[in-house]
This record gives sequence, structure tokens and C-alpha cells, in this order.
Amino acid sequence: MKALVYHGPRQVSVDEVPDARIEKPTDVLVKITSTNICGSDLHMYEGRTDFEQGRIFGHENLGEVIEVGGGVDKIRVGDMVSVPFNVSCGHCNNCEHGLTNYCLTANEPGVAGGAYGFADMGGWAGGQAEYLRIPWGDFQCLRLPEDAKGKQNDYTMLSDILPTGWHAVEMSGLTPGETIVIYGGGPVGLMAALSATVKGAAKVMVVDRHPDRLKLAEQIGAIPIDDSKGSPVDQVMEQTGGRGADRGAECVGYQAHDPQGNEDNALTLNNLVASVKFTGGIGTVGVFIPQDPGAPDELAQQGKARFDFGTFWFKGQQMGCGQAPVKRYNRHLRNLIAENKITPSWIVSHNLTLDQAPDAYQHFDARDEGWTKVVLNPTQ
Ligand code: NAD
Ligand code: ZN
Repeated sequence: MKALVYHGPRQVSVDEVPDARIEKPTDVLVKITSTNICGSDLHMYEGRTDFEQGRIFGHENLGEVIEVGGGVDKIRVGDMVSVPFNVSCGHCNNCEHGLTNYCLTANEPGVAGGAYGFADMGGWAGGQAEYLRIPWGDFQCLRLPEDAKGKQNDYTMLSDILPTGWHAVEMSGLTPGETIVIYGGGPVGLMAALSATVKGAAKVMVVDRHPDRLKLAEQIGAIPIDDSKGSPVDQVMEQTGGRGADRGAECVGYQAHDPQGNEDNALTLNNLVASVKFTGGIGTVGVFIPQDPGAPDELAQQGKARFDFGTFWFKGQQMGCGQAPVKRYNRHLRNLIAENKITPSWIVSHNLTLDQAPDAYQHFDARDEGWTKVVLNPTQ
């Protein structure tokens, strides 16, 4: 089969690799019809992780079931399914408590949490390919409604960024009528803005500096905050009568850029602590990793964030963080899409073939104007 393979920093190609196949009775084999490029892929693409050469990218997967193992009895051949990016077994202590983001079976002993096509997340092959093997298929696959084939650009957001944006807002503790500031207007930040709107936020502010991304935020009624035009913290204070936002979401991660040119790997966290009110809450889904060899200074290389814990403590704020538990939210979000209550496809900028993926990675990595969210369609 054809698959997008990593060959070193910023080097990927579409190669012929052995077909994905059923290996265990509980496996499901999916023909991939939509698989997206994610900001998370860029950590590996840029060579900032120990992602091994020869591995296949892709954790945002949707497709048609073409074969099931002998132990699969709920998912059927022909089903269109969304696959959560978290690989999870369904029966370990964490999965049984709904913590499928920290499955104890999907990674090596002592490390919780698995993912397709990821560094340090269990070594599972990714789905930027024609076919993908889904372990524990009955537990993992989310069956999509009849209209799935025609609405793939919406349903494809269920595997990761829509539940992740929702999780950021959930962890922030937002309740209806409150205000929220979201750092990062990339795909994840835009999904957090959509989620906050659905959850009844009175005011949603999105901080970024790319005009195309800020415009997408504006299209769903959020207030765009351009940090290239002045301190984002000051702008949030202005929007909130000097009180600060009730809630905040971090959707950038350790690759945050400082418009002032200073490299600070906790810049967005510190901006959040400053922008959110005393006793407010923050949800951090942007990725921070234990080691960042590409970081500009030694502390950051060790994965240590320069987080202003003093102010965070003084303001009595709360923070949640980590990988999103996609299964906790994907059924309800699927139903909102099915009933046309939300159309997350508004952020899709490109539908491309697998062969076009190397070029798309370059554009998305450069955050080129107009390259907001790329959906690859390997077998359509
Ligand atoms: P992205 O890189 O396309 O978007 C990040 C955005 O942040 C960009 O638009 C960029 O301009 C903006 N940005 C950079 N510096 C900023 C700053 N100082 N202030 C405000 N905005 C700034 O990526 P994405 O796909 O939207 O993903 C965002 C983050 O979420 C990544 O770290 C990704 O790995 C992570 N993620 C986490 C989970 C999870 O489960 N926790 C899931 C998916 C993605
Ligand atoms: Zn992703």
C-alpha cells in the first residue's frame, strides 16, 4: 500500500510499504478515506522528537471498514468509522475510568497513552496511508451515520481536534455566560472557539497573528486578537473591562512564537496566567514534551517550561492539561454534526491526495497563508 513515510527532519515521501492487515482477532482493518495533517505531526516532521525514520504519519483517521477479526462483533464490514487518535484497549484501569488518553495497555510498560503515527506513543503505524489496522476495534471505532460519506470534512474532525478543542474548554471550567480567551488560532484553537460557543460562552477571544486564521475565528463570532499589533494580555484586559477572562485555553504548545523575538517556551502559559482572572481556570492542550532538543536554550531542551507559577499560585487559578480523551466526547460531537448543529469543516482549506502530502506538509509547517487544515483523501 502507499503511505506517507518519515525520513528525517522535514523529509517525507509517499512510499510503497507492506499492507496493513488484521493481526489479532480484535482488530479492524479500515480503508482510509480521510486523514488530516495536524499541528502535532509537525513536532515530529520538524525533527523535534525521536520519531523513527521509516514510520508512517497520521493520527486523525476516518474510513470504511473492509475486514474485521474473528473477535469483533459490533463493528461490521462497510461501516464508516471515525478512529480516535488515542489507541486504547477499553479494559485497563484507566480505560475503565474513561481515561482512554492514558491507556495502560497501548504503550510500553510504565508509560500510559498510545496514539497512531506518533513518537513515544506505543509505536503504532499511522493512517496517512491507504489502510490502517485498528487494535481493539469494537472499543475504538465510532460508527458514523448514513450521511458520513458526504460530510467527511465535518466528521473527520472527530478523531482529534474537535474533541481536543472541547476538552480544552472543559478543563478550563467554562460555564454559560462566561468569557474565555484562547491562545492559538490554529485548527485546535478554532475548535476550542467553536466548542466554547456551543457551550454558551458570552465572549470568545482568539489570539494569533495569522490574518486567515483570525478571520476564521471571526466567522463563528469570536473576537480576533492579533498579537502582532500589541500585547495580547492588554487586549484581553481591554475586552474584559480590566478583569481578565473567566477562562483560558492553551492551543499552541511548546513551539509558541514570541512576536517580540524572545524565545520563551512557556510564553502562552504565562500570557494565559496574566489574561485570566483571579480564581479562573485554564485548559492546556497545546503539546509540551519532556525533551525538546530543537529548543533554543538548555532549560527548554530538557523540556522545562519557564512557567510563572508564582503568579498562577497568587491568583488561585486552576489548570488541566494533557492528551484529550477523544472517546469521552466523540459520540456527542458526532450527533451535533449529524443534526447540523455544528459544521467544523469551515476550517478545511485543502482536500488532497496522498501524493500531494509532502508538498502540503511544507505549506502547513510554514503556516502559509490559507493552509489552515489539510484533509488527505488517500482512497477517494
Ligand atoms: P498549529 O501549529 O497549526 O496552530 C498553532 C497556532 O498558534 C498557529 O496559528 C500559530 O500562529 C499560533 N501561535 C504561535 N505562537 C503563538 C503565541 N505566542 N500566541 C498565540 N498564538 C500563537 O497547530 P494545531 O493543529 O492547531 O495544534 C496546536 C497544538 O495542539 C499543538 O501543540 C498540537 O500538538 C496540540 N494538540 C494537542 C492535542 C491533545 O490531545 N492535547 C491534540 C491535538 C493537537
Ligand atoms: Zn492531531
